[in-house]
Order: sequence, then C-alpha cells, then structure tokens
Amino acid sequence: MKATYDYLIVGAGLFGAVFAHEATRRGKRCLVVDKRPHAGGNIYCREMDGIQVHYYGAHIFHTDNRRVWDYVNRFVTFNRFTNSPLANFEGRLYNLPFNMNTFYQLWGTRTPEEARARIEQERAPYAGIAEPRNLEEQALKLGGRDIYERLIKGYTEKQWGRAATELPAFIIRRLPFRFTFDNNYFNDRYQGIPEGGYNALIDALLSECEVRLGTDYFAHRAELDALSDAVLFTGCIDEYFEYCFGRLEYRSLRFDHRVLETDNFQGNAVVNYTERSIPYTRIIEHKHFAFGTQPTTVVTYEYPDDFAPGKEPYYPVNDERNSRIYDRYRTLADNCVDVLFGGRLAQYTYADMDDTVEAALRLSEEVLR
Ligand SMILES: Cc1cc2nc3c(=O)[nH]c(=O)nc-3n(C[C@H](O)[C@H](O)[C@H](O)COP(=O)(O)OP(=O)(O)OC[C@H]3O[C@@H](n4cnc5c(N)ncnc54)[C@H](O)[C@@H]3O)c2cc1C
Repeated sequence: MKATYDYLIVGAGLFGAVFAHEATRRGKRCLVVDKRPHAGGNIYCREMDGIQVHYYGAHIFHTDNRRVWDYVNRFVTFNRFTNSPLANFEGRLYNLPFNMNTFYQLWGTRTPEEARARIEQERAPYAGIAEPRNLEEQALKLGGRDIYERLIKGYTEKQWGRAATELPAFIIRRLPFRFTFDNNYFNDRYQGIPEGGYNALIDALLSECEVRLGTDYFAHRAELDALSDAVLFTGCIDEYFEYCFGRLEYRSLRFDHRVLETDNFQGNAVVNYTERSIPYTRIIEHKHFAFGTQPTTVVTYEYPDDFAPGKEPYYPVNDERNSRIYDRYRTLADNCVDVLFGGRLAQYTYADMDDTVEAALRLSEEVLR
C-alpha cells in the first residue's frame, strides 16, 4: 500500500524547512514534525513588546555564497544590519573584530605601522613557543599578553567551562587582525537580518507543507515511520540510534530574556563580556538588529552552560573522543535504507545558516532528481 507521505521530515529547523520546500515544490508529499511548539529550530524569533527576539541566541545571516543569498532573498527581504560587536572588559569598551579601533583603544596606536610594531612587541616574549601546548600558549604566541588577558582569556574560559591552559591550542588557529578602522565582524559579501525576523523565512519555506508541532518523533516513531516512504532526520544522531555507542557531548547555553523600560540599553546589538568573573558571555539587545524605535527594549543575557540530558545541545564538542563516536554513528546512518540525515544535530557539527541552506539544497538535488 502506498504511504500517505513521500517524506517524513523530523525537525522544522532551517535544514528541514529548506528540504521540505524543495521536496514539496517537486511534487513530493511531506509531513514535517517538530518536538518544539514552534517551527524554525534555533533561528526562531519570539515577538516581545513588538521586538523580534532571537530566542535561541543572536543570529546574523552572512554569506559569500551567491546562490544561497539569492535563494533566501526569494522568500524574505534582508535589512542592512552589519554586525559590529563590542567587548566590555572591566568597564572599558573595545571594538571587535581586532582592528585599528581596537588597537587604538588598547594602546593608543594611530597608524597601521604603529599597531604592527606594537603587536610584534607584545608577541616577542612568546616567540620561543614552537608548538603551543594549550590555548593560552597559542593565544600568547599569536597576540601577546594584553590582547589575551583583556579580550580572549575570560570569554573563552566561560564558553568552554575550562581553564585556557586545559583547552586545546587548535581552538584558536589564528587571530584575525585587521589594519583598517573597520568594525564589520564578517568579511562576507552579503549580510543582514530578515525583515520581520527569521520566522518570516521559515513560514515562507513551509507555507505549502503539512507541519505538526509539539510532536516528538521518538514518542510516535513506529506510527510516523509507517506514514511515509522515506525519512529525513535532523535531530541528534546518537538519539536516533538509541545511544548505542554512547552519548555525544555538547556545550549548552542558558538565555535570560528581559524586557526593560528604556528605549536603548546598550546602543549596540551585541556586547561581549570578556571578564571571567562576570558569568554571562554577552548581552544582546534585539531591537538593534532591526533599527527598532519601540519605547521599550528587550535584552538577553547569554550564559554558557554544561550540557546534560534535557538541556538544549548547542555546540558540539568535536574532540577526538566525540569524533570517534560520531564516525561510528555515521557508518550506521550511511547503511540506513530510506533514511536521510542532515542538519547540525544529525551531522554533529557547527554550521552557519548559509552552509545549512547550501547543504539542504545539495541533498535535495541529490535525492529528489
Ligand atoms: C547560539 C548560536 C548562535 C548562532 N548564530 C549564528 C549566526 O549568527 N549566523 C549563522 O549563520 N548561524 C548561526 N548559528 C547556526 C544556526 O543556528 C544553524 O545554522 C541552524 O540553526 C541549523 O539548522 P538545523 O535545522 O540544522 O538545526 P536546528 O535549528 O537545531 O533544527 C533542528 C530541529 O529538530 C527538532 N528536533 C530534534 N529532535 C527532534 C525529535 N526527536 N522530534 C521532533 N523534532 C526534533 C528540534 O526541535 C529543532 O527544531 C548559531 C548557532 C547557535 C547555537
């Protein structure tokens, strides 16, 4: 007997939504399920006081990929937001990424020549470190003590929940120094935030699909599988295989969203707090993503958190142990018939939104020919 749907798509995040759109457009019957009460996965926005709040962390769309940029612009219009975060260390503000403004704030250097000379001077004591043994040694070798202690150490230790001397050096491969007065965080050609927030993009992608929210695939697995010929799974790969090789590790985050009775709290969308003693890593003021003029504002304090079952898995810990476990799950996945795996959780990877869209488009081209 023919199943009701050609594809059951588990997860209404960006990956699932792009695939569902592409499959539906090619005449496939799709059912999309998500365990959360809303679609969009981690790019979901919740409206609070008329402001689109990036509910699972600040999301800035940026890409060099022309195909992806043209694709998303078919569904929504992007504003001209440019990410120019600030760092707050002991009450002083520094521009990011490291550029001529930052060097001026750190040392008063005014020209690229002065800044280059100062960085060389800062690095000199660590030139003898041939093979950095940990993140601290790596950062000192690349940028010297001043930049490390004010802008890198505390922030990174909070993010990973470990001392910089216990973190692997490869986390920082290089420090992107820019010798111009340019605070644009990204080098990509295209950047912005969808007008009306990310839900507008997801709603447009899913407009022709059947979507069931608040539906955990694992609570209804047999029944849902029976409804469709094939499955695209975008949840956690270890959960799909019932943790048979053990659990993959993640870092989690905790978000404290607050409505404030002021029209402008910090004058910028993103301010990082780089001191170890301040427990949050950044404060996001959401209205600045959309140049909002509302009388109130919404800010989010972002706290790094240890992962445990029941908490949201945000950042994969791609160390040797987890990579080995993932490879074993991947082999099982490759041998599954009529089940596709895609998205950040099934591939146990961090992927920006543009890479997520590109990967979903590629998969749909491959399997929906
Ligand atoms: C804090 C943070 C900030 C980020 N900022 C940026 C940024 O500024 N720019 C950028 O380009 N990218 C950013 N990203 C990356 C971006 O979030 C991802 O590219 C994108 O969300 C990946 O989409 P996805 O569909 O793969 O995963 P997700 O968005 O996680 O979607 C997966 C969906 O599957 C659902 N699901 C899981 N298990 C089940 C189940 N058993 N049953 C039913 N449903 C299930 C989940 O509820 C979820 O909705 C950021 C990521 C994080 C963590």
